[in-house]
Amino acid sequence: MPKAEETVLEIDLNALAHNLQHLRSKLQPSTKFLGVVKAFGYGSDAIEIAKHLEHLQVDYFAVAYTVEGIALRKAGITTPILVLHPLPAHFDEIIEYNLEPNLYNAKVLNAFLAIAEAQQTKDFPVHIKFNTGLNRLGFWENDVDYIISKLNGALQVKVASIFSHLAASEDPNERDFTLQQIKSFENTADAFIEKLGYRPMLHTLNTSGILNYPEAQFDMVRSGIGLYGFGNDPKHDQHLTPIATLKSVISQIHRIEPGESVGYNRAFKAPHFAKTATIPLGHADGISRQYGNGVGYATINGQKAAFIGNVCMDMLMIDITGIECKEGDEVILFGKSPTADEFSGNAGTISYELLTAISQRVKRVFLR
Ligand SMILES: *Cc1c(COP(=O)(O)O)cnc(C)c1O
Repeated sequence: MPKAEETVLEIDLNALAHNLQHLRSKLQPSTKFLGVVKAFGYGSDAIEIAKHLEHLQVDYFAVAYTVEGIALRKAGITTPILVLHPLPAHFDEIIEYNLEPNLYNAKVLNAFLAIAEAQQTKDFPVHIKFNTGLNRLGFWENDVDYIISKLNGALQVKVASIFSHLAASEDPNERDFTLQQIKSFENTADAFIEKLGYRPMLHTLNTSGILNYPEAQFDMVRSGIGLYGFGNDPKHDQHLTPIATLKSVISQIHRIEPGESVGYNRAFKAPHFAKTATIPLGHADGISRQYGNGVGYATINGQKAAFIGNVCMDMLMIDITGIECKEGDEVILFGKSPTADEFSGNAGTISYELLTAISQRVKRVFLR
């Protein structure tokens, strides 16, 4: 890869293929694989990621919102797309773009049935979500009869899958709870299938579920963070490769006298002669103010340069005292080392939040 000349998020598509291969190695060959590409592919680039995953023959995609699914269809993605959190305002578009809604409560079920009937669809694929303990979206176990009463004779739709979502699949201390969720999902699905009269696909595992509870893979699994290179545990992380590297450059170097300050609110005051560098990356790019004042750091030729003062909207400053470097040199924020997990952990947050926050202003470049 050529050295960065501006702030870029480098996306390694070979690492994506490696991560997919590793996750698949935990599964039966017949188990379908759904790639979660919501939130711009966890902040990378949903379209390029989906194109590559389609080429690698994943079976399904999931996005959170309808607008994300429409963008994939407009980019030419033809693989089925599950919309995890559709809102009735977009049900016409769901049908128009051949997206597949998660129907998670009576209101959305009835609204979708009505719109599908008005549009005279036939066997339009829908997915029924059951809540097994996350208490976020989903029908309850005792809603089975109600759902069946609505679906009976509703030829405009066909249930493509029944699914649930685990609350703490990464946490060994919550193993009993997770096993209970899996059991509850299985029981509900059994009752549902018996009354439905045909067998849709079943799925409940996210990335940590695949890694920690492969016995509950059912017909399909849904992986997001694993594809992007994180397994929520060092023992899994060692087999995965982060696909995104955030790089920037040194715009300007300053020599600071003792007692001088750097940045807004004079938050950094130099205790001694210091050398600082200004980086074209700020909180508008997704490096939030919580990384300021020594929490975050950049890496220059393997050496750590701490953030000093407050992170500005479009820039941040680092302490390069004692580090051999010049204006124009490349700096690394996170990637393979430190990882987004390590970088974000310093600020008390998680890789998911850091990655998805990298704004669309940052140029994406792809390693193929
Ligand atoms: C985001 C999401 C996933 C993916 O979870 P990861 O931990 O990133 O693998 C799976 N299922 C649902 C319902 C989700 O919202």
